Amino acid sequence: MATATEFVPNQQATESVTAHVLWMTIGLSCEGDSVAMTSATNPSLEDIIQGVIPGMPRVVIHNQVIAFEVGEEYMQAWYDAEQGKLDPFVLVIEGSIGNEQINGEGHWTGFGVNPSNGQPITINEWIDRLAPKAAAVVAVGTCATYGGIPAMKNNPTGAMGVPDYLGWKWRSKANLPIVCIPGCPAQPDNMTEVLMYLVFHLAGMAPAPELDEQLRPKWLFGRTVREGCNRAGFTEQGNFATEYGSDHRCLVKLGCKGPVVKCNVPVRGWVNGIGGCPNVGGICMACTMPGFPDKYMPFMDEDKWGGAAANFQRFTYGPVFRYFRKRNLEKKFDIEPEWRRPGPVLTSGYQKRW
Ligand code: SF4
Ligand code: SF4
Repeated sequence: MATATEFVPNQQATESVTAHVLWMTIGLSCEGDSVAMTSATNPSLEDIIQGVIPGMPRVVIHNQVIAFEVGEEYMQAWYDAEQGKLDPFVLVIEGSIGNEQINGEGHWTGFGVNPSNGQPITINEWIDRLAPKAAAVVAVGTCATYGGIPAMKNNPTGAMGVPDYLGWKWRSKANLPIVCIPGCPAQPDNMTEVLMYLVFHLAGMAPAPELDEQLRPKWLFGRTVREGCNRAGFTEQGNFATEYGSDHRCLVKLGCKGPVVKCNVPVRGWVNGIGGCPNVGGICMACTMPGFPDKYMPFMDEDKWGGAAANFQRFTYGPVFRYFRKRNLEKKFDIEPEWRRPGPVLTSGYQKRW
């Protein structure tokens, strides 16, 4: 994979490139990621579609949640992409992929009708048709990335994420791995930012995105929730909430999984920088993680190891930190220097030099 240091910008990056984004919402999904994407602000969907981002090629997004067209008119772009008439295009997949080899006599999920047999075209078939022609494939939401809720243990559909379906080492025709943007739903700006980044990359104006082992953009998923949480300072002082609605303290004892979850929502917020699960009082349920939801259930129960770590902090160094910080704050740092007083004598220590 190309890295930032290997990147050589294309000086002739053409402004005439039109990148199409074919966004499939018809996996086993709730379409929550598409809905979330409409609230992105940095960049916003409108910024991308209307071409107000300097230097960005024209982008056309085909997504049934926001589309004006319906029926065959909406489907035309998909048939065009299949026939090579839309190039380049980014294939975005939302929702997990049912195993159509075990669908009995029906199908799990699909859209469009196959004229040859009058049957729906399954999402699997769409992926088989379009992925080889796509410049990039992006999985949005934890269902599409790692299977998510539809792929829970004992599910009947054999649901899986896109990397499990296409293969973790799969590469697009532009030699890009699958790009995973997990979250349930994915954070809005994470989606629009990655789309913008990919379009710039395909136009030769940005390096390939750097991904981690789970195919997530490194710059978005490099930190844990704890590392970005505005309650983290309470943890080292052994200060934990024991019930909802209590003071602003660490939520680990209420079941927050933040210490072992990679997600930038506490740093980035949810809409326009506002919100962000633990920042605003909700525990982190680990919705971005490959093992979600099974590995983190029951959600509201304290994790055994998280609870043990919290108890260690509560009964060992936490109270010591608290005592000395409070003392230093009250007696030393949270007060003005003593020379800032009215009076007949200057007490600031100024030495007269003439
Ligand atoms: Fe819905 Fe969450 Fe699945 Fe996205 S990842 S489709 S928001 S259940
Ligand atoms: Fe999901 Fe936790 Fe991130 Fe919230 S903080 S979006 S629950 S992973």
